[in-house]
Amino acid sequence: MTEEGVSGPAHGEAHGGGLGTRLNWLRAAVLGANDGIVSTAGLVVGVAGATSDRAALLTAGLAGLLAGSMSMAAGEYVSVSTQRDSEMAALAVEKRELREQPEAELEELTQLLEERGLSRDVAREAAQQLTERDALRAHARVELGIDPDALTNPWHAAWASFLAFTAGALLPLLAIVLPPSGWRVPVTVVSVVAALVLTGWSSARLGAAAPGRAVLRNVGGGLLAMGITYGVGVLLGAAGI
Ligand SMILES: [Zn+2]
Repeated sequence: MTEEGVSGPAHGEAHGGGLGTRLNWLRAAVLGANDGIVSTAGLVVGVAGATSDRAALLTAGLAGLLAGSMSMAAGEYVSVSTQRDSEMAALAVEKRELREQPEAELEELTQLLEERGLSRDVAREAAQQLTERDALRAHARVELGIDPDALTNPWHAAWASFLAFTAGALLPLLAIVLPPSGWRVPVTVVSVVAALVLTGWSSARLGAAAPGRAVLRNVGGGLLAMGITYGVGVLLGAAGI
């Protein structure tokens, strides 16, 4: 499971771009689904190497799906909560500074705007107008790069991770339990490869990277995972464990 959960990319977009943020969420969802596909495929193919018992496959696959999606959700919840705590602490500091030293804060905002390319006079004028309208919001956005009205909700992030992983994990789970015994592994491998082409391609496109290599790496990683666990499963099955 990667640590690049749903929160990471969303927080990278500091300048409040609606489209950029949406794309980042979409990309995180694709990566979450990819995690679900690879880890569950590795798990069920490994078990299929050892046994043809459908109940065992279903149990292992479902347990893997739930364990993975809950682990992703919990990790995401913790990471976004921490992020949110530090954002709220920074906003509280900013609020206090604005109350205690408004002049210094106006000068700070002016300089930040100058650094962004405005002339001294225009920066001063802009800083004054922003301060009159909503000083805290202006400092949050220009100085901290956060939108105080749109802090990421840890529960939303957790649910998004849970759903993305589950959606991905369902594919290998169904592919291993639905077909008749001899077809299970081939059907799973083919459908997992097809899905990994899709997720590799989408995440590369969403991240504005060339898709060719991303697809190859993604499919290679999935095949490696399934190959190793299948080999281990076959060995354990043959040993009668
Ligand atoms: Zn400030």
